[in-house]
Amino acid sequence: MAIGDFHTHSTHSDGKKTVPELAAMAARAGLRAMALTDHDSTAGVREMAAALAPHGIRLVPGVELSTDIPGSEVHVLGYFMNIDDPAFQAELARFREGRLGRGLRMIEKLRALGMDVSWERVQEIAGDASVGRPHVAQHLVERGYVQSIPEAFDRFIGRNGPAYAEREKLTPAQAVKLIRSAGGFPVVAHPHYTPDAEAILAELAGQGLSGMEVYYKDLGPEKVEELLAIAQRLKLLPTGGSDYHALGNPGEREPGDIPLPDAAVEALLAAGEACACPAVVAS
Ligand code: AMP
Ligand code: ZN
Ligand code: FE
Ligand code: FE
Repeated sequence: MAIGDFHTHSTHSDGKKTVPELAAMAARAGLRAMALTDHDSTAGVREMAAALAPHGIRLVPGVELSTDIPGSEVHVLGYFMNIDDPAFQAELARFREGRLGRGLRMIEKLRALGMDVSWERVQEIAGDASVGRPHVAQHLVERGYVQSIPEAFDRFIGRNGPAYAEREKLTPAQAVKLIRSAGGFPVVAHPHYTPDAEAILAELAGQGLSGMEVYYKDLGPEKVEELLAIAQRLKLLPTGGSDYHALGNPGEREPGDIPLPDAAVEALLAAGEACACPAVVAS
């Protein structure tokens, strides 16, 4: 078990665990540091800091932004931002708004395929979360059109699926800039999902990128070595996390059940101190 986990999702985006549930899991796992990285939302950050504090667990404020590259996407994590930065929050609000229109368009496409699905139900499942495709996938599962969330992606709402809809997204460089403009530390998430990742990482390293995920979820030692070599060549800080969603998908790892070395945890925390980012005050 690791002593840190810097990539987790709650019910403020497409995770199934509430902030108190996640905090309890972190305490049981014996974590010392954690980041909550909901998609396009920092709504859970203050509550998470307060829930972790009694356990002596340090919360790193986080967010995950999806960005577009031709034919694929790159996810950019931000750590240590000033979550009260109005321009930063205005951008996040705009992204969440874009998720609403895009979710509705996906439902329209599914209905055109003859499926009895409703946008109202997807919004009910999402509650006040930043709406994501996993919410749509859960609706397809409950209606019996698919057996699992991955099947919903494979057959309908994955990037090349018949019910996929785009939303307006930043480029990776714009996401890096946005996180930096709020005093944050930008890190590329799960780079091994991106084809030709090293070229993209190299370009972003020249545009303010600070780190990349190396110790992700259930990655084995060979893949970790390969990613670590890229991080070293590009002078990017290697970080890691479980990307825990509690969706029950195959390969899911619980918070802390990841190959993240203690030294990598310390290095990210030290980077946070060095960037003199505003401390998150529990309230
Ligand atoms: P969205 O942010 O709405 O584009 O949805 C992306 C989220 O869907 C990711 O963060 C994952 O949690 C989830 N996801 C993406 N691809 C798959 C897949 N093939 N199977 C299951 N979940 C996926
Ligand atoms: Zn997600
Ligand atoms: Fe991601
Ligand atoms: Fe994620």
